[in-house]
Amino acid sequence: MSQPADLIRALVRPAVQSMQAYHVPPATGLVKLDAMENPYGWPEELVDGWLGRVRQAQLNRYPDPSAAELKQRMRQALDIPDGAELLLGNGSDELIQLLGMALGGAGRTVLTAGPGFAMYRLIALFTGMRYEEVPLREGDFALDLDAMLAAIAAHRPTIVYLAYPNNPTGNAFDRAAVQAVIEAAPGVVVLDEAYHAFCGESFADALAQHPNLLVMRTVSKMGLAGLRLGYLMGHPDWLAEFEKCRLPYNISVLTQLSARFALEHVEVFAEQTRRLREERERLFAALEAMDALTVWPSRANFITFRVPEGRAVSVHAGLREQGVLIKKLDGSHPMLGDCLRVTVGTPEENGQFLRALERALG
Ligand SMILES: *Cc1c(COP(=O)(O)O)cnc(C)c1O
Repeated sequence: MSQPADLIRALVRPAVQSMQAYHVPPATGLVKLDAMENPYGWPEELVDGWLGRVRQAQLNRYPDPSAAELKQRMRQALDIPDGAELLLGNGSDELIQLLGMALGGAGRTVLTAGPGFAMYRLIALFTGMRYEEVPLREGDFALDLDAMLAAIAAHRPTIVYLAYPNNPTGNAFDRAAVQAVIEAAPGVVVLDEAYHAFCGESFADALAQHPNLLVMRTVSKMGLAGLRLGYLMGHPDWLAEFEKCRLPYNISVLTQLSARFALEHVEVFAEQTRRLREERERLFAALEAMDALTVWPSRANFITFRVPEGRAVSVHAGLREQGVLIKKLDGSHPMLGDCLRVTVGTPEENGQFLRALERALG
């Protein structure tokens, strides 16, 4: 094959050439505690009921481009404010991309607080935007309001992203500080509530008061990561603009059908997430009891902790050798040196992780 290197250098946009593709490590055969998935499957009756619906699916037809029935079901099952419109994405990752396409371009800036969610930066770069990150406070990862307000004044960001609770730090920022950011921002503020099911607090009720506020959620962390379904809530006029950038059939027949079915049984997921919240507290207590670790409290379904200096790579590898996969945060951000992140699993999985961790720490 002839080498395309020169053409690539000439044609691929510099911002893209300088990026790294998002890497997902292989997990086959491992206890998978790296990606904030819900570990629980469905009860047998639910699987049977779902298969009955799948049998009726018409895969020869395009999906309903407006996903009208799914949206109606979402309004019944998820607490969505009355005046808010819904925009659906193939995961909330796609919604972040849609926002970049509608609001992005040269001279426009995405601002967020870091360490934060990796996709804000990646998508800002490939939608031609500048990316600015305000460090969270050292120690407790709180939002540094003065620094945020100074950055908002200096950069006049088109989009501010705040994850509430934040990934990978697990904390939910002070509400008054978030409110102050919304009021000071000249552009839109997107509250990313991916971990809503584990937090219990939301900014959705504030949508009516702020013309620049958007609230984004996903069904991924509550137990449906495989479906790829995220939703943005906001004023109908905003969402009408973003709709123009949405590809008409982004939510597949199988996703629409499966999400509708799952949300008819939303109590199953509510029970699973309730158990995970309890498990999170048990896991937190067990980690905190280990002298070698610094552990941060979490409002999400994961816990971030720091191992002794220089040990993150060996502890992460040691866990993996014992069949447990978690996320190595060390090396991903200056404030996350020696840090690892574990997703809350079943009691058995968490027990396996804790035993493996003790051994890996030596
Ligand atoms: C997991 C996550 C998302 C992405 O969710 P998908 O709907 O699965 O694409 C968005 N934001 C944050 C903060 C997350 O942790």
